[in-house]
Amino acid sequence: MSLTELTITEAQAKLSAGEITAVELAQAHLDRIAALEPKIRAYLAVTPDLTLAMAEQAERRRRAGARGPLLGIPLAVKDVLALKGFPTTCGSRILEGFAPPFTATSVQRLIDAGAVVLGKTNTDEFAMGSSTENSAYFTTHNPWDLERVPGGSSGGSAAAVTARMAPGALGTDTGGSVRQPGALCGIAAIKPSYGRVSRFGLVAYASSLDQVGALGRTVADVATILGVMAGWDELDSTSVDKPVPDYLAALTGDLKGVRVGIPEEYFIAGIQPEVEQAVRAAIEQMRALGAEIFDVSLPHTEYALPVYYIIAPAEASANLARYDGVRYGPRQSTGEMWETYKETRGEGFGPEVKRRIMLGTYTLSAGYYDAYYAKAQKVRTLIKRDFDDVWEKVDVVVGPTSPTTAFKIGEKVDDPLQMYLSDVFTLAANLAGIPGLNVPCGFDAKGLPVGLQIMGPAFKEEVVLRVGHAYEQATEWHRRRPAMVEA
Ligand code: GLN
Repeated sequence: MSLTELTITEAQAKLSAGEITAVELAQAHLDRIAALEPKIRAYLAVTPDLTLAMAEQAERRRRAGARGPLLGIPLAVKDVLALKGFPTTCGSRILEGFAPPFTATSVQRLIDAGAVVLGKTNTDEFAMGSSTENSAYFTTHNPWDLERVPGGSSGGSAAAVTARMAPGALGTDTGGSVRQPGALCGIAAIKPSYGRVSRFGLVAYASSLDQVGALGRTVADVATILGVMAGWDELDSTSVDKPVPDYLAALTGDLKGVRVGIPEEYFIAGIQPEVEQAVRAAIEQMRALGAEIFDVSLPHTEYALPVYYIIAPAEASANLARYDGVRYGPRQSTGEMWETYKETRGEGFGPEVKRRIMLGTYTLSAGYYDAYYAKAQKVRTLIKRDFDDVWEKVDVVVGPTSPTTAFKIGEKVDDPLQMYLSDVFTLAANLAGIPGLNVPCGFDAKGLPVGLQIMGPAFKEEVVLRVGHAYEQATEWHRRRPAMVEA
């Protein structure tokens, strides 16, 4: 079996047994990237020198007696996370050539644990999008069908993991950007609770919604990555000082007595029939495995989309004000200050980013603040309360991750509203600050993966992971792999 077929758990077992070395594992992934990257285009930058140096360092540490679940494991990093001395573009021209003088805490914790960085993955510009088509550089292709999108905005990370160009990856999720590409690529993908993982060094899109998450080919693998990067960080005042449970120990494989809520609002008109069928079949399988299934209601679900598209652009308009050509990236200058700002921003930002800056500036402006922004914040509280009520009755809530399977490249680019609907089931978790996990639960008639979303109460990642893992272990969906990826 090729080394790139190994899950993180399997690779670590072989590394620990001395059957393979970290350098061999890293080289196998670099070779796979060289072979498949021209077709998939998951990486904005591959860093082979850094990768091999880190792999050698991991080997030295192992020889010195070090051990750990990520020691010597190669990982890909979404290009909105800072890696000291390497370009961090956020998929935007406005940060072309920018190399941060520090590393994101989430990434640093993985490196400290011995993980080996393969490169920076493609993303919609500043993580605004659901397909990677908003990347200023290129679109990533879905390994299941190269004419289709991998989802987004963490589409590069999802495609890399699916095509065995990385065993695991970091993504970020503001409204669905880890879970939705996880669903469209058929892999495990977790967005933790707000505050679970430090946002230091994550380039801000919408600060009250952004979270760093993990993608992998099994639930155990995303649990491993999350366990290493989670926890309080003095550099992020919104990170929460709660102990990080042993997520791997929580994966008991048992669903007996787990109370699973099915929100009626998550099976709406417009959902692809094959997605609904696969999700309903998964729920029946959970029942057969011993879970207790309850119908529940999250009555404010329909407001998640409009509330998100007021709050996220408002925060984005404030966060992106710093890109003015003075402090970061290329500068378009005619000498005069306002012209420099205008030309730099005019040329540096793509159309979706400009749309959001304008929407956000509008809803925050004096005459409209109360009508839009303040009102959206109130409705956000109602959405959060829906979940608080539901947790009185059930342990987790289960539904589809995305209303459709992977769509064609170009199909939705000219229709922002259609694109926004891709995240209709994932946005609420960000607004409420709760964890959400995608696990594959079937395939449509075209052979494209369908994703199941499992959400749980804030800081109950271990419960969400346990349910996802038990379901995964009872099914074979996660073992299927795209035809283009030979073993
Ligand atoms: N697709 C959503 C948006 O465009 C969510 C993106 C994200 O989670 N970063 O904002």
